[in-house]
Amino acid sequence: MIENAYLMGTYTPQPMYFSSGKGCWLKSEEGDDYLDAISGIAVTNLGHANDALNAALVAQTHKLWHVSNTVHIKEQQLLGEKLCQLANMDKAFFCNSGAEANETALKLARLHGHKKGINNPLVIVMSGAFHGRTLAMLSATDSPNARNGFGPLVEGFLELPFNDINALNNLGERKKDVVAILIEPIQGESGVKIASPNYLKALSNMCSDNDWLLMLDEIQSGIGRTGKWFSYQHYNIKPDIITVAKALGNGFPIGACLASGKAATLFTPGSHGSTFGGNPLACNVALEVLNTIEKDNILSNAKSQGHNLLNQLKSALKNIPQIREIRGIGLLVGIEFQQNIDGIQSYAMSNNLVINVTRHKTIRILPALIMTNEETELLVSKLKKSIIEYFSREDQ
Ligand code: PLP
Repeated sequence: MIENAYLMGTYTPQPMYFSSGKGCWLKSEEGDDYLDAISGIAVTNLGHANDALNAALVAQTHKLWHVSNTVHIKEQQLLGEKLCQLANMDKAFFCNSGAEANETALKLARLHGHKKGINNPLVIVMSGAFHGRTLAMLSATDSPNARNGFGPLVEGFLELPFNDINALNNLGERKKDVVAILIEPIQGESGVKIASPNYLKALSNMCSDNDWLLMLDEIQSGIGRTGKWFSYQHYNIKPDIITVAKALGNGFPIGACLASGKAATLFTPGSHGSTFGGNPLACNVALEVLNTIEKDNILSNAKSQGHNLLNQLKSALKNIPQIREIRGIGLLVGIEFQQNIDGIQSYAMSNNLVINVTRHKTIRILPALIMTNEETELLVSKLKKSIIEYFSREDQ
């Protein structure tokens, strides 16, 4: 076993190899089954080894993997149409990851600003935000760890406190250079922090009053995760731009930047592009992801299992004093603790449960949207056992 000797040390993986998966379950090399409560961080929303997706992928591999965007691509056109209809947007640009989708949004925002004669356009971003690891997205992300050592950062972002309407109303002189707001309606990486309806409405009004673009990062919260196609559909707002990735390909890399109205026609030939973005293979898989979500009524399952999960967690964990709050929408759920809970993942793993901890204090639960009642119950009981074991460990 060569372990990670030839891999750059960007991750701290648990000592575990999974060799296969089916639905909400992963199988270890030793043949043991583990309940997957993170879905590759909000990616495998339709579970592992989904039959319809496997069939679509295999069928396309026999037809055509890749042609460049120098010719028309039917699969890309079909996916663009479907995604735009579901998101209530006008046009799509396809890329390969979440960070790239957000970079695309940023470029649109800057084009929008320059078109209005603003030479140093500013994009408002939020405290606690996570938008990706490219240099520009790092600069829009509020994480000292992610930024450390990578300066100088990209200019042109103005960070405001999340969910704080007053801060929005007190921009002063800086307001004249603002061209857009970039926000996750539900902040995933910073611990499932949910924007209040009033706040998002205020942002939306501010954008329409000032001709700014409202840009929603739905990379983690989109594609059914919250029980609707996009989390913004829980709110009464109309964004100009939406970015998606992660679950769009259920593990096949693909991202998209969707735009409506004036934002949809800012790019011109040559102003943006990608070699792999929107190739037939990725687009055919993503199209099947969207069709399967519709055909199998996945949104309603995400909504009902989300209710089950939240209620069961609140009742099962109510006597654990270290828990500060349990919150979520659909199957995007966070359990925030009063203290650092690093290391709790290995207690879950010993109970055959795969969980994720974000920002040291929050267990993030992101199971596949196809969960059954039995799997939800099992998840809650395994999690409760793991939390109790963690807090009764000897080095406490
Ligand atoms: N935006 C959000 C909200 C995310 O959660 C992530 C990834 O976790 C990204 C952007 C970056 O996506 P990617 O890792 O595909 O570049």
